[in-house]
Amino acid sequence: MPSDYESDPAVSNLRNYLRIRSVQPNVNYDECLTYLRGQAAELGLPVQVFEPRPRKPILVMTWEGLEPALPSVLLNSHMDVVPVFEKSWTFPPFEAHLENGVIYGRGAQDMKSVAIQYIEAVRRLKAEGIRLKRTLHLSFVPDEEIGGGPGMSQFVKTEDFKKLNIGFALDEGIASATDEYLIFNAERNIWHMTVVCPGK
Ligand SMILES: [Zn+2]
Repeated sequence: MPSDYESDPAVSNLRNYLRIRSVQPNVNYDECLTYLRGQAAELGLPVQVFEPRPRKPILVMTWEGLEPALPSVLLNSHMDVVPVFEKSWTFPPFEAHLENGVIYGRGAQDMKSVAIQYIEAVRRLKAEGIRLKRTLHLSFVPDEEIGGGPGMSQFVKTEDFKKLNIGFALDEGIASATDEYLIFNAERNIWHMTVVCPGK
């Protein structure tokens, strides 16, 4: 690891986000919103916060494209993380301990890392003076880990969501133990099966 690894703003931003205890159940998202508003301010991006259900905020940062009438690109992530058995951890799960290039923290894989990658990618593109043709929305949603009931699944039914005019979306994948990256592929229509096991 290069010696400046720990001082890389992308790394410190991730560690700061991991230190927010947005852990299920009954998450208070206030600290996440404060943190994300700060990030948006640094990027110079406007923020909207939608609350289709009380205390279940969806924060959207928007980077307007050169042709804003075109369908937009959505970069989505969830703010919450699953609970921990703290005694089983080598390092406390909400300290974002960094050692030998490894960051230990609940949410490091699922999925605060992805959220920060979106933010840092936008930061670097903007710093290079790049403008995108399409509008980019970065959305941060609550309660994915308990099924998204009060979060994204409500938001997609709203006029506010329709107004984002989304043409394409990215969201979390999953970690891979090899050099291969895994993607979840879908086209045309989502394909979910219901398996019924009535037993005897
Ligand atoms: Zn996840």
